[in-house]
Amino acid sequence: MPRLAILSVGNLKEFYAKLDEMMSLCVDQLLDRFEIQCLKKVRNYPFLMGDGVWLDSEKLGPDDEVREVLKHGTLTVGFIGLAECLKSLIGEHHGESPKAQELGLEIVGHMRKYMDDSSAKYKLNFSLLATPAEGLSGRFVEIDKKRFGKIPGVTDRDYYTNSFHVPVYFPINAYNKIKLEAPYHEFTNGGHITYIELDGDPTKNLDAFESVIRCMKENGVGYGAINHPVDHDPECGFNGIIDDTCPKCGRTEEDGAAFERIRRITGYLVGTLDRFNNAKRSEVKDRVKHLNADNSKIETL
Ligand SMILES: [Zn+2]
Repeated sequence: MPRLAILSVGNLKEFYAKLDEMMSLCVDQLLDRFEIQCLKKVRNYPFLMGDGVWLDSEKLGPDDEVREVLKHGTLTVGFIGLAECLKSLIGEHHGESPKAQELGLEIVGHMRKYMDDSSAKYKLNFSLLATPAEGLSGRFVEIDKKRFGKIPGVTDRDYYTNSFHVPVYFPINAYNKIKLEAPYHEFTNGGHITYIELDGDPTKNLDAFESVIRCMKENGVGYGAINHPVDHDPECGFNGIIDDTCPKCGRTEEDGAAFERIRRITGYLVGTLDRFNNAKRSEVKDRVKHLNADNSKIETL
């Protein structure tokens, strides 16, 4: 999406034309793959189809093609970088102005309609996915940076923002982030997530924790998550927040093994960032906190 926006140089009509062209390419590619998969026989999947695990496979014999089963599956197109796309098109992302939010919803709504139209046309389940992009977020921005240079707010970081998310580095409170991202959940029927970053120990302010969950529910978030730090002392077994000193045994990291600091990255809970690519590591470094659990005076809805 950012690349399509850069190439359109602020011309929305041109952007939509390029977007449709790309959607058409993706739909064709999905259909192509689907046709190849459909040529397989039931006997190629002795458990899933031969034993009737998949819907309608019990109606087929071992030498039948699997099309009648696979047609129940989904064919999905995903996207990343709505924020950078908006920044390139109108100079602001959807965290920065209502105008950008309006355009963001219009663009993602347009993509969803394209998938719905494809479903009607081909009688298959096409859907739109809010992609978390573990590898792509770094790879695409690297390619675009080489081609277009460093464009502020667009290609000047090591990653493109996931799907429709408000950029991780943008300071915004939890409730506003939820309200901005929630309307995109309805459009992305292939999958979506909204998360907020919580500073501190959620058990110290359960009211704040609950109000975030309720806010997600009331605004139509399909899948919501609250990321909060969890530290672990491998020596004494303490789980919780460890600043410099372990609250249970009183040791510091200099006294022994390093504390494990569990963080959540694209759905994975990890103790260290060593196994993640540079783009994701740099994204985690940039993340701002949206709510302070230890602060009793939190902003109310
Ligand atoms: Zn300890």
